[in-house]
Amino acid sequence: MTIRTGAEYLAGLRDGREVWLAGRRVDDVLATPVLAAAAHTVARLYDLQHDPELREVLTFGDGAERHPLSLAAPHDAPALRRRGAAFRTTAEATFGLLGRSPDFVNTAVTAFASAAAFFGKADPRFGRNVTAYHAACLARDPFLSHATINPPLSRARSSHEQDDPDVHLRIVRETSEGIVVRGAKLIGTLTPVADEIVVFPLPGYRPGDEPYTAAFAIPVATPGLRIVCREPLVADPGRLLSTPLAPFEEIDATCVFDDVLIPSDRVFFHGDTDAANRLYDATTARHHTGQHSIIRGAAKAELLTGIAVALAEMSGTHTFLHVKEMLGEVLGSLELARAGVLAAEDGARTSEWNTFTPALAPVLALRYHFPRMTSRMIEVIQLLGGGSLLSTPAEEDLRGELWPGIERYFRGADGVSAEQRVRLLKLAWDATGSAFGQRQMQYERYHSGDPVRLAAAQYTGYDTAPLLRTVQRALHPERQPAGPGGTAPDPSAADGHRPAEARP
Ligand SMILES: Cc1cc2nc3c(=O)[nH]c(=O)nc-3n(C[C@H](O)[C@H](O)[C@H](O)COP(=O)(O)OP(=O)(O)OC[C@H]3O[C@@H](n4cnc5c(N)ncnc54)[C@H](O)[C@@H]3O)c2cc1C
Repeated sequence: MTIRTGAEYLAGLRDGREVWLAGRRVDDVLATPVLAAAAHTVARLYDLQHDPELREVLTFGDGAERHPLSLAAPHDAPALRRRGAAFRTTAEATFGLLGRSPDFVNTAVTAFASAAAFFGKADPRFGRNVTAYHAACLARDPFLSHATINPPLSRARSSHEQDDPDVHLRIVRETSEGIVVRGAKLIGTLTPVADEIVVFPLPGYRPGDEPYTAAFAIPVATPGLRIVCREPLVADPGRLLSTPLAPFEEIDATCVFDDVLIPSDRVFFHGDTDAANRLYDATTARHHTGQHSIIRGAAKAELLTGIAVALAEMSGTHTFLHVKEMLGEVLGSLELARAGVLAAEDGARTSEWNTFTPALAPVLALRYHFPRMTSRMIEVIQLLGGGSLLSTPAEEDLRGELWPGIERYFRGADGVSAEQRVRLLKLAWDATGSAFGQRQMQYERYHSGDPVRLAAAQYTGYDTAPLLRTVQRALHPERQPAGPGGTAPDPSAADGHRPAEARP
């Protein structure tokens, strides 16, 4: 089969899935405005794959047999850059606001399939299952979501030490048909409108947690799987003048597994806490999804810095020195975000799975610094917008009888019409101050793990030997020949990181 259209994706969502929103079961996600808005945004991304101008950018294959490029493992630098261009196209189409666009989990599953031997080490069947699942995704082009985190309950205790053994997702029994799992996983962003959910462990498991380490993929409509949506952040996704970013409200959800049977051929892993903790890094899923995340982040930075510049120019404040400094600062952050993308691609090397793998150090660098950059971009937009951000009339007012009389009070500098100015101010507030904007900020902080522990992993994994050699040269100038020799990174650690086994 070939890539699906948006209409085909939407038609697949009427499958009896159990989705709950605001206290009631949703019979049809497409008849529920906030879920339908998210689904239609995803559908537009499916349709982009069929755009004659973007087909070559977003898909690969021969003739009519095409597949999403996010399901192709890159084996050399041009292939990695080509995939990056595909990520960028999707990110630009969604202003970097859709973190879990279909290409995200596709990329993780592709990394898993490349590293099938990692799964096969735990059990040869797991390796075969991962390979077969990737092949099935190539054949069917499903929209995959994922949920990896256990409910907090107590973060001070490991999974098997929680006061309720059935809160963290665990295997309760194995049958001839597969494993039966009970408990919850979060945060299933867009799971209510996805075709499948992929579950896998992230680091943090301790001996005794073995039953809690399952990795698998199942259809969202699997019996016993209950999807509980968070409170919607957009009251009415149809009010596009008031909340122009409403189409990108990617609903988040908690996934409750009520003794769900995972068929044997959909089980990828379980039973080893050490391997579970290493899985995301060792398979290089972190590196590959990292490339996706930093490209998406750069697209969001373009939107935020663009809003800052537009606000200043619209009110004439761009002529003041302190405003120019603020704009220079956020534009500098945008450039650093873009540079990080290039550095991750430039430092890419062939991994032990024979895939061309982005350098992890720049990915982790942006993982830590990008939330701070975003936070400052938001602050600058709010400083530049001032009280105007909170004095825009409702979209009904712009169409009401009063408007011709008051329109002049809402105009901007240099011929900016009142409607243009109100639209820009509403966009600025939606991106930064609304519940939607605040969720976007929280997403940047936490979308792929705890930033504190990820920063620590940057240090423990970093190849610091060349830096320490530099210090030695500075300490003992008498022993060194003149010139800058001795600072080149160890070529065996070209991504800036030591091999995992060499880390403290
Ligand atoms: C909007 C949004 C969308 C998301 N979408 C997805 C998704 O689609 N799929 C998915 O799988 N995940 C998703 N995530 C979840 C994301 O993976 C987690 O939020 C992230 O891994 C952090 O886990 P946590 O939220 O449980 O925070 P915690 O790990 O509980 O961290 C909270 C705080 O407690 C501290 N802390 C907790 N435990 C420890 C510890 N052991 N040692 C030291 N400090 C600790 C942390 O440093 C941090 O300050 C999403 C998150 C957000 C915010």
